[in-house]
Amino acid sequence: MIGGEEHGRFRELVDRHQDIVVTTHMNPDGDALGSQLVVARYLREQGKKVRMVNSDPAPETLRFLEGAAEIPVYDADVHRAWLAEADLVVLVDNSASDRLGRMEQPMLEVADKVFCIDHHPTRGNPWKYNILDTAACATAAIVYELVTKQGFVADDASALAMYVGIATDTGFFRFNSTTVQAHAIASRLLDAGVDPARPYQEIYEGNSEAYTRLLGHALADLRLDAGGAIASVRLTRELQDRCGAFDVDSSEMTTALLAMRSVRIAVLFRDLPDGKIKVSLRSKGNVNVHSLATQFGGGGHRNASGIVLDGGMDEAVNLVTGKATELLAATDAGSME
Ligand code: 5GP
Ligand code: MN
Repeated sequence: MIGGEEHGRFRELVDRHQDIVVTTHMNPDGDALGSQLVVARYLREQGKKVRMVNSDPAPETLRFLEGAAEIPVYDADVHRAWLAEADLVVLVDNSASDRLGRMEQPMLEVADKVFCIDHHPTRGNPWKYNILDTAACATAAIVYELVTKQGFVADDASALAMYVGIATDTGFFRFNSTTVQAHAIASRLLDAGVDPARPYQEIYEGNSEAYTRLLGHALADLRLDAGGAIASVRLTRELQDRCGAFDVDSSEMTTALLAMRSVRIAVLFRDLPDGKIKVSLRSKGNVNVHSLATQFGGGGHRNASGIVLDGGMDEAVNLVTGKATELLAATDAGSME
């Protein structure tokens, strides 16, 4: 939990700055956008000049969040000047510079005025100011605590945005990131008028036929390792093209893999447009896929992490499943001590 020191730092940083840019990580998710939109609304209410810019557009599934579709996508010719002019740049839901995509270099150039609010575990980061709480279920929960302490009363759009941040990062209250804090804040947001069925429907019941067929092909080609404890699927470029579902965020497919009783680690490999491979990792219980991701320069949380790898699909599958097998052995050896 954040305490008096963090609330004081937040108050002081808001008071001291006028021209503020608010941004988040590449391929923004519900927590990223929800947190960003609420921070921006709070700062505007405080009379600040606030601009938002991201390295990628909001995905289709999150455009129901008020303001999400209008966040500009970074264009150096326009937005480098915004970063240069700003007194403060608030970065939410991300500490790792390599998750800023095309904004990585320009953000590093202004690191001495970046204020990072995040819940991801990281080893040191380049930003001048930080409010980090790895115990928080979502960045939106940290944002809720911060702005509520300052007297902000969430309007309908802000309440929904924070609810979406917390709900999506906890898998709609089923991952073990689902803490007392998650339910406590969610209950206050329901009190404020949020309808929980609506965001679920918007986010998880909007799949296209192409995506559903892609899921079917991927599952039909399921691979099991470590006696069934590791399940993985591959979305090659060829398969994505064949189904007409190229370059769509497919990390939810891991849910179907984790649903198998024997599975403790689920892995999704997906060819990206730039030839790299996106690896989504999910796990059950005490299996720490964050430690696996960091071996390859990725990151995330204990039960949900990601990596971007260079090289071919077969090589990636062998490499990651090999390390995942080692992780399971080490986890079981550790728990028997
Ligand atoms: P997903 O598999 O849904 O893309 O990501 C799961 C989690 O891992 C998220 O919390 C996300 O922040 C983190 N993550 C995904 N890809 C990367 C990556 O390439 N680098 C780092 N540092 N974290 C990642
Ligand atoms: Mn988050």
